[in-house]
Amino acid sequence: MRQATLFIFFFVTFLSNNAKSQCGTIVTDEQAKMMEEAQPRLRSFNNKITRGVIDIPVQIHVLRKSNRKGAIQRYRIQEAISDLNSHFINANIRFVVADKINYIDNSMFYDFDVKYEEELGRDNDVKNVINLYIVNSISSGQIALCGYAYFPPGNDRVLMSKSCINNGSTLPHEMGHYFMLYHTHGISNNGSTDELADQSNCHIAGDRVCDTPADPNISGYVDDNCHYNGKMKDSKGEYYKPDPLNMMSYSTKACRQRFTKGQFTRMNYAALNHREYLEFPKKEVKAKEPSNVLALSGSLMLEIADKPISTALNVNLFKSTEGYYKGTNYQLYLSNQQTVYVYVIGSNLENESNLLFPLENQSALIFKGKEKFALPGNDYMYQMDDVKGMDYLCVLYSRRPLQINNIMDDLGNVEGNFMQRLYKTLGSKLVPLKDVNYKKEDSIAFSAVAKDNYIVPIVVEIEHL
Ligand SMILES: [Zn+2]
Repeated sequence: MRQATLFIFFFVTFLSNNAKSQCGTIVTDEQAKMMEEAQPRLRSFNNKITRGVIDIPVQIHVLRKSNRKGAIQRYRIQEAISDLNSHFINANIRFVVADKINYIDNSMFYDFDVKYEEELGRDNDVKNVINLYIVNSISSGQIALCGYAYFPPGNDRVLMSKSCINNGSTLPHEMGHYFMLYHTHGISNNGSTDELADQSNCHIAGDRVCDTPADPNISGYVDDNCHYNGKMKDSKGEYYKPDPLNMMSYSTKACRQRFTKGQFTRMNYAALNHREYLEFPKKEVKAKEPSNVLALSGSLMLEIADKPISTALNVNLFKSTEGYYKGTNYQLYLSNQQTVYVYVIGSNLENESNLLFPLENQSALIFKGKEKFALPGNDYMYQMDDVKGMDYLCVLYSRRPLQINNIMDDLGNVEGNFMQRLYKTLGSKLVPLKDVNYKKEDSIAFSAVAKDNYIVPIVVEIEHL
């Protein structure tokens, strides 16, 4: 009796793990070569620098049967994108749905065989955006797949089966491939790794990421508690200690939940260097914009003894071009063309944030047409604090009043650098970069079109010595 139970247990485990570990993304020789060539530059890509958050355009394509039935519900797509963003903000990447959903009504593609991909893509791909196709199921010959994507240089296409899109790990995993991440067990899909357990060859073996432990391919070796239960050894006889929680492993899907810092760095590098051509489709301006669209524009001046602080723009982050000594006083002025709610937050490298405006007896509401209006007032100056490094000054222009105390609490409770914490806290309330035009003039200026989202952030990083 006991033996019979044991047998069944193993049998079920074997089946379920096998069914769970298929990923259809394949590395071509050309892609592997390009990624090897990028390796030295990647090693010198500094992940300690705070960078602007890049908006990545995504076109959603939903397959329905020819009778228009069988579509995934919209809220499930929104949940999937928002879950994706909760991970990728750490790589300074935010996915923004670029246009309405494209519904494709074709029963032949509904339960999708990968051999039809060229035809599907040819008729539906939008150029230079990520085309995310959500089909009912995916098969490659006899094998059922949850999803697959392409490494760079490769198609801007991610295919996902409906049943896997909300499992919390397949979509981030496939996007990981799109932004240059290998499986933690390395280049081959179903083989093992060439990385040593002590990771001494981590730059040239395995997944080429040095803070992911060497992984021998753990498909079938992860128990219900997400523990690795294999006994595999490397070529020197050392036991592997892989991470079954890593998003890029062949662990069970429910266990995969995290990327490492090194993986975030690699994805950020890939977004800037190998997916830099992505752009939001240009749309004709409609004669009459819907009433929920509002233009926002304004500018900031940061001055030390009446002299402006000089800055350079990095995506959506203004960086001071010179350093200032601690204790330096500066003033902040604002000009605005619309009536807006304005909040000013200061933060240092230790992630201590303070609300600098409005002060307790002030209102965040600022009426339109102010020219060089001092914040929080004419008799105030800001002072750079004693923590050496970077200070962040963040001005939020908002169409609506914000629950600023809750926002300050949330900012203190999430992880990452200041930009990442800001995006994690405000998320989809922030106007996407495609709708903002940041300008570096004598002052720091922007103009934006706010639709459902309504906050334009202006973040200035000031180095102090
Ligand atoms: Zn994969």
